[in-house]
Amino acid sequence: MSRTTDHISFEYFPPKTEAGVDKLLSETVPALAALDPEFSSVTYGAGGSTRERTIGVVNSLKDSGADVAPHLSFGGDEADTIAALLNSYRDAGVKRLVALRGDLPSGMGGSGQLVYANELVAFVREHTGDHFTISVAAYPEIHPQAESYDKDVYYLKGKFDAGADNAITQYFYNVESYFYFMDRCLAAGIDKPIYAGIMPITNYANLARFSKNCGAEIPRWICQRLEGFGDDQESVNKFGIEVVSQLCQTLMDNGAPGIHFYTMNQVEPTRQIVANLGS
Ligand code: FAD
Repeated sequence: MSRTTDHISFEYFPPKTEAGVDKLLSETVPALAALDPEFSSVTYGAGGSTRERTIGVVNSLKDSGADVAPHLSFGGDEADTIAALLNSYRDAGVKRLVALRGDLPSGMGGSGQLVYANELVAFVREHTGDHFTISVAAYPEIHPQAESYDKDVYYLKGKFDAGADNAITQYFYNVESYFYFMDRCLAAGIDKPIYAGIMPITNYANLARFSKNCGAEIPRWICQRLEGFGDDQESVNKFGIEVVSQLCQTLMDNGAPGIHFYTMNQVEPTRQIVANLGS
């Protein structure tokens, strides 16, 4: 492998079925572990809806020797529930967390409680001191609910001031948005690593749907190419790997501290993109 960044990491989601979990643990994770990630993170459904499944996958990854980072948010939970979860992760030897505000699942209405991520970071530090390395979320194209660009950067700084160690970005395809954001963060006094979150392109309809909800922009020229391929999955895959490999190479060549892949539990194309880096 000829890549030139020390830091790559992977995100997985906890599958809904036992067969899905088996496939993730016996095929996907071992294949991607061969790429030597610094850590692997496991998502946590809105409002704690995947709690048991997340814990199961986290424990299995831990048992396999991975450095694993469970995602965590308050959702509608009481502080005692979150404190107990932190204790159980700490006792199992988990050393990392991704601390998030999260979103409320549809249907939860007003009964849930959204706790800003800086408050969760402070809560984790209060309960478990320096045990966990804490990652938080960052948005180069700005969080959809942000009051303004500067306010979003200001609140990111608040997460670091509360004790976060690094940030992972929402995915993006406009490389300039990331470097401009890095400059604004530096100007705001943020000097911790902000890893670039990268979403491989495999399915235009799904990507367009996700992107609308999370505020990530798919550049017009990428939309045009993907629309043009229609059902030709082979061309979509080939184009996606080419575009995202170039994006990653530009990030690394220009000083991004690392890359976090949203694997969507697929070995390919993350493996091919990593193989292309530095080549
Ligand atoms: P916050 O940092 O709390 O920010 C939320 C909004 O509030 C922003 O608009 C911000 O500007 C504003 N804000 C922040 N702090 C304050 C404050 N103190 N006072 C007033 N306003 C404030 N979702 C899931 O459900 N499960 C996951 O596992 C998951 N993993 C993710 C991983 C990464 C790397 C990323 C980038 C996102 C992930 N998400 C996940 C999505 C995330 O939960 C949503 O984007 C959510 O809407 C915001 O979470 P946050 O931690 O960024 O929130």
